[in-house]
Amino acid sequence: MIPDSTTGDDSSGDVPAAYNDIDEPCYQQKESKVLHLPGSAKDTLKCGRRITAGYTFLPGGASFKWARCSLCFKGQVITTTDELVDVMGAIRSRRSQS
Ligand SMILES: [Zn+2]
Repeated sequence: MIPDSTTGDDSSGDVPAAYNDIDEPCYQQKESKVLHLPGSAKDTLKCGRRITAGYTFLPGGASFKWARCSLCFKGQVITTTDELVDVMGAIRSRRSQS
C-alpha cells in the first residue's frame, strides 16, 4: 500500500524519525520492495539502475524490514564480526571463572 502523498505537507513531520532505520532519502522498487539509494547522476540509482515509474521515492527514509540493494548499501551493512568476537570472548571468560 502506498500512502497518498498529495495530502498534507511534504515536510515528513507525520512520521517519527525513530520509525525509519534508514534516515536518508531512498527509492523502493514497487514489486520487489527492495530499497535503493539515489545515485549522483539524475534519474539513476547508486547501483547504476535507472529510476523508472516502478520505483517509489521515500524522502523520509525507510525501515530495515525491507531488503536492501547490496550495491547501493555496500559498506553500510554492519558486519557481525565484531559482535561474534564479543560473544566468543564472553564465553571464554565465563569458562575461566568456573
Ligand atoms: Zn541499488
